Amino acid sequence: MTSDTNPSKNSGSAAGGKKRGKNAKGGTGKADNKTVSFSANPDPPAQAPVKPFSRKKSATHAEREKECGNRHFKEKKYRQAVCSYSQAVVRAPQPGDPDAGDLLSVGYANRSAALLHMGEFRLCLQDIEAALGAGYPTRLRYKLLDRRATCQLKLVLQQQEEELPALESRSDHFLSASSAVDVTYSPGEGRFAVAARDVKPGDLLVVEKPHASVLMAEKTGTHCIHCLKRVLAAFPCRECSGVMFCSPACAAAAEPYHRWECSIQDVLQASGMSPLCHLALRIITKHGLEFFQKLRPELERARAPGDRPSTDSAGKQYDPDNYLAVHQLVTLSELRKPEDFFHRTLMAVLLLKHLRVAGFFGAVTEDDQADRALSSDELLVGSLLLHHLQLLQFNAHEVGEYVMMEPGQFKQSRSVYIGVAVYPTVSFFNHSCEGGVSRCFVGDTLAVHSVMPVAAGQPIFENYGPIYSHKAKPDRQHWLSSRYWFDCRCVACEENWPDYDQYDINTVLLRCTGCGAGIENDASGKDPVGDCPKCGKKNNAVELFRQLGGAQENYHSAMNMMHEGEPKKALRLFYRFIEQCQELVVRPNRDLSLCQEAARMCLAAQGSLHCIRQKKTNVA
Ligand SMILES: [Zn+2]
Ligand SMILES: [Zn+2]
Ligand SMILES: [Zn+2]
Ligand SMILES: [Zn+2]
Repeated sequence: MTSDTNPSKNSGSAAGGKKRGKNAKGGTGKADNKTVSFSANPDPPAQAPVKPFSRKKSATHAEREKECGNRHFKEKKYRQAVCSYSQAVVRAPQPGDPDAGDLLSVGYANRSAALLHMGEFRLCLQDIEAALGAGYPTRLRYKLLDRRATCQLKLVLQQQEEELPALESRSDHFLSASSAVDVTYSPGEGRFAVAARDVKPGDLLVVEKPHASVLMAEKTGTHCIHCLKRVLAAFPCRECSGVMFCSPACAAAAEPYHRWECSIQDVLQASGMSPLCHLALRIITKHGLEFFQKLRPELERARAPGDRPSTDSAGKQYDPDNYLAVHQLVTLSELRKPEDFFHRTLMAVLLLKHLRVAGFFGAVTEDDQADRALSSDELLVGSLLLHHLQLLQFNAHEVGEYVMMEPGQFKQSRSVYIGVAVYPTVSFFNHSCEGGVSRCFVGDTLAVHSVMPVAAGQPIFENYGPIYSHKAKPDRQHWLSSRYWFDCRCVACEENWPDYDQYDINTVLLRCTGCGAGIENDASGKDPVGDCPKCGKKNNAVELFRQLGGAQENYHSAMNMMHEGEPKKALRLFYRFIEQCQELVVRPNRDLSLCQEAARMCLAAQGSLHCIRQKKTNVA
């Protein structure tokens, strides 16, 4: 079993995909209820007392960081200055606190000056507003107003930052999917995504904001805990110093859940639990207790597995923000071993105790530290935590940030794991070891593009981790069955496709223009015989090889474009090559696989991108 099946273990590979929905019906919550109340009574390790713990505000620390920022600023080290000022605003006591002074507003104001020098006009304006809002001293305000005017002028000239692609035509049923996507049901496969029309490589299929996402603990010093974007100029929580936000808007949006997590943030992280456990909790704190109290009757009504995935019986659109979209995801409770259930139940109890001391169920009493009986609200939330811990095993996605050494340098670039999230619509995509889509994250918002043609009515496949070209079939099958509990029957597994190590580069299997079957031939093209072994058609192999040669030339120049830092231009040629391969060769084909891999890299780099070495910014 992988560490993922044990929720108490912290693992760097806690998520990454999800299982095909064998049984789309979620648990009713009743069975989960019993388990929680059982294990709250004996004395398991989860019964150890939980105490709130979080990093408090500190005027001394804030003052020190501000001084440090001022030194960097004088030395024209603006990036370091911004870092120090960010620490200062995160640690500074809020206005109204007896220790507050001008620390917060001066921190913002000084940072805005450094940001102006860096050409970060949007962030600079944001800081000026924050400084004014935090009570910047009146006698100095003219400086800020001056800076604001300069900045507004320059902002007009600056181009917009990279934004999410928008869906051209939205599905009638799925709020975050394009009209090219539909979901169908079969008893063996559960519910899964299919092409509603012919899909071309490059088609944007889904743009989804997750129902909930959680940042990896080790990224809290560099990324926004709400949108998971990398933070240059941090905004603080009003209470703690343990988290940061990229903007006042994210700080406000996080308030409904962070108000409960604020006092337990550090203890959750220090416990070493996997981010999936935190995500199970976040789905609760995001909605609040009253929401679940009202939803109780609905949660107890079971849904028929053949139902169209809809959020309510009125047949409204499937909305990933609707809790029921998450609740009905597959849990496979019926297949779980007792030990697995026991582990998850202990974790649910531990999370429940965190919520109790955070005041989620009302004012905290002495009794809450002792082992008082669970209230009916606690029992409800505990059973939901257990339900979430099960469904997240199969339905959570890793969130990635694309990292390269320098802008445009794809060599050694890769996606780095920064958090976990649940995307209810993307959860409908089944796995294949070939994979037919790419993932691109802007913060925690996921854009899914197709990287292969899919005929109307055919399934659209994601890849949950192991790709046929990099991992041998037994390893893939083992990985998938231990983590997601299914035996892969994808075309690569069924036809025993070879991985890259086994490829004989000269065996290109041409496709019969009559029936699509493979024609054995040698790549030199000297042998013109292209008799189809299946339908008997006499294909002109020389002509087919000539066309393939032309396509390959374009593909190689696209590879060069990509490595010269022109991914957008390269993508257009990659898509064309993928389409040509579909007509000319039988899969697997080495160039086709490499081309799809390159297209995935170009697409991923269009999202949140971190370059380790920055190009010099225009100094304003
Ligand atoms: Zn943010
Ligand atoms: Zn906080
Ligand atoms: Zn497979
Ligand atoms: Zn044929």
